[in-house]
Amino acid sequence: MAKSAWKVQFLGAARQVTGSCYLLYTEGFRLLIDCGMYQERKLLARNWESFPVPPESIDVLLLTHAHLDHCGLIPKLVKEGFRGRIVSTAASRDLAHIVLHDSARIQEEDAAFKKRRHEREGRKGPYPVVPLYTPQDVREAMPRFDTVGYGETVELSDDLTASFHDAGHILGSAMIELRTSVNGEDRTLVFSGDIGQPGRPLVRDPVRFREADYVVMESTYGNRRHEDAGDVEDQLAAVINDTVQRGGNVLIPTFAVERAQELMYTLGQLVGADRIPHVMAFLDSPMAIEVTDVFRRHRHELNEDVQDVAESGGRLFRFPRMHLVESVEESKAINRIRGSCIILAGSGMCTAGRIKHHLVNNITRGESTIVFVGYQAQGTLGRRIVDGERVVRILGADYPVVAKVAQIHGLSGHADQRGLLNWLKDLVRPPRRVFLTHGEATAAEELASRLRARRDWRVEVPAYRQEFDLD
Ligand code: ZN
Repeated sequence: MAKSAWKVQFLGAARQVTGSCYLLYTEGFRLLIDCGMYQERKLLARNWESFPVPPESIDVLLLTHAHLDHCGLIPKLVKEGFRGRIVSTAASRDLAHIVLHDSARIQEEDAAFKKRRHEREGRKGPYPVVPLYTPQDVREAMPRFDTVGYGETVELSDDLTASFHDAGHILGSAMIELRTSVNGEDRTLVFSGDIGQPGRPLVRDPVRFREADYVVMESTYGNRRHEDAGDVEDQLAAVINDTVQRGGNVLIPTFAVERAQELMYTLGQLVGADRIPHVMAFLDSPMAIEVTDVFRRHRHELNEDVQDVAESGGRLFRFPRMHLVESVEESKAINRIRGSCIILAGSGMCTAGRIKHHLVNNITRGESTIVFVGYQAQGTLGRRIVDGERVVRILGADYPVVAKVAQIHGLSGHADQRGLLNWLKDLVRPPRRVFLTHGEATAAEELASRLRARRDWRVEVPAYRQEFDLD
């Protein structure tokens, strides 16, 4: 019974927002929560470093959800010797399969491109020009998954159990509650993963906990409030009606996971209620089409409103005149359509994918509208358009931005500062310690000072590789 104390070490998402990875360990047992890829440009090289702990020494990996910054290094972990099981919800496993496969494909393309460039320029890059992992590595990692339902308890060792709870972030996303004992006393640890905003179109609201001795929570919007722009359906209906009246197309750059399905579901509701004209609509993204199939298979994990629609015989992600576009030929044919249509295409920030071709065909048309529904990172084409640049470069040529540009607020996948503070509201007693991760230092620090001031709690903003004893 008298085991050595547990320690937690922060191996990623520490004072920044990607590469989520936390190690929890005691004598003879090592557990990893998430194994995410670094996506911030300045930290990309970390993806290539060897893991801070030998992969073969890790007993179990728990996965909160299938975004790349949480699951993206799993194939590398397995390739380098991890032989334990990966515990996640079934929906997360199915989404991770698609997301990791897509990532492996991009890794291969990038490596081939860099190799050609380096050969041409006769120089060496900062990291080797081989892919981080391949589709074959993904295939070898997938059988390690072991799925768990929400609320079910899984035993991880003789004195450690885990249960997964709704995180309200994307399909399958979970907060992980761990229970163990320290010197005969019970201890509960909660890892928030990414915390969703309540009231999303598809997923259920995030669960709040009544008890936790230790909390590791995200702080992406720790210093910000989401703009309150009103109902998403109203905003979307207004912009579509306006554009169709002008005779233009509605272009929506779309992330393949969650956002594409939220939009199709919402558009279906609007068409069903005759709130928008019944124009043709296209989901022009093979990956989003594959993801939508996972949503259909796991629809029982979606919220009550969705269940009601499904029970009354409604189709969740299709409506009359909605087309799924797989081939490049079909994608090109969209441009020959006369009259207005709605086009959802990846990528969400216009950095790659078929949206670029649709932009080329619509950005100089004053009657068309480019509608942004998600965060646009600094330096992306999407951000330049949102910021009102007059001329933008797409696929090697310059185009004046003549089309209307609109933004729809309210579809954020992350809780804002108020949502994060509310998430802690139900705790009946102060935790022994709160660790704030997955936020830029300024965001995490502001949330930390709010918690310290308001509640007199012990709050840490851990640095990369910093570790703490859990007493
Ligand atoms: Zn996420």
